[in-house]
Amino acid sequence: MNTDTTPIATIEQRLDAIQTVLQRHGMQPTEFINTFDELAHEHWVPANGAGLIARAWTDPAFKQLLLTDGMAAIREAGLRMPPHHRHFVVLENTADIHNVICCTLCSCTAFTIIGLPPDWYKDLAYRSRVVREARTVLREMGLDLPAQTQIRVWDTTADTRYMVMPQRPSGTEALSVEQLTALISKDALIGVALI
Ligand code: FE
Repeated sequence: MNTDTTPIATIEQRLDAIQTVLQRHGMQPTEFINTFDELAHEHWVPANGAGLIARAWTDPAFKQLLLTDGMAAIREAGLRMPPHHRHFVVLENTADIHNVICCTLCSCTAFTIIGLPPDWYKDLAYRSRVVREARTVLREMGLDLPAQTQIRVWDTTADTRYMVMPQRPSGTEALSVEQLTALISKDALIGVALI
């Protein structure tokens, strides 16, 4: 709580102040924000990761590549990650093992592949609890896993980014890669939902 009598600037005033300083130093914050916004909403979308998974479900050789050398699979698919994302690790769910990802430190994800992290992913409650009581957290989020399913929680680091490979649902044998891609949500790629 602020016990000082100095009035606190509003968020808008703080933004204006930061923009003014950046512009004074010859930087272009408005252009950056517009570019970033376009990247975030048009290019860094979960359909990228979903497409990788759908292709892996239908192409054993690509699945092998995706699970053993995620960066090579991304390159082959024409996708990109920032240079500081040095490792891309894909975690395969099975009948016995369910994977879920988090960033206990902040909000790291493979954001160019699975999209920007949801707000709840950045909350202290999720970050601190999923590593201690994953089963309970997942149940609260609507994913009630069988008691015999082993849950593995993966804590993202600055240079290692993860994506969960959900199990392919039965009855989807006739679907195309595009149709399969449409089934796969960002939540499933994080591991808090099934397909
Ligand atoms: Fe982080």
